[in-house]
Amino acid sequence: MASFDDWLDAYDVMYRALPASSELPCPNCGHQTLRLVFTAPPGTRHGYAAFWCDTCLEGIHLSRAPIPDGVSVLSLDLPAEKRNRGIPNYRLVT
Ligand SMILES: [Zn+2]
Repeated sequence: MASFDDWLDAYDVMYRALPASSELPCPNCGHQTLRLVFTAPPGTRHGYAAFWCDTCLEGIHLSRAPIPDGVSVLSLDLPAEKRNRGIPNYRLVT
């Protein structure tokens, strides 16, 4: 099972490819189904990063993540049900 550090390494690779998508395999199951979604207060470029795998539904959650230009960001002002649309209830690796 992938550790938090394994997930952080994968996040780093995904992050540096942004705003392009990456075909990095999941550190846990090996499928190329990693997803990265940022949520932030309006007008700021720091926020929360949800990073997970759609296949094994594991991943990590980071706060105060810098958000690169050209990446779409969900507003923290949105009601939770809109904000969390498309983000499954995945298991957090700690
Ligand atoms: Zn996976």
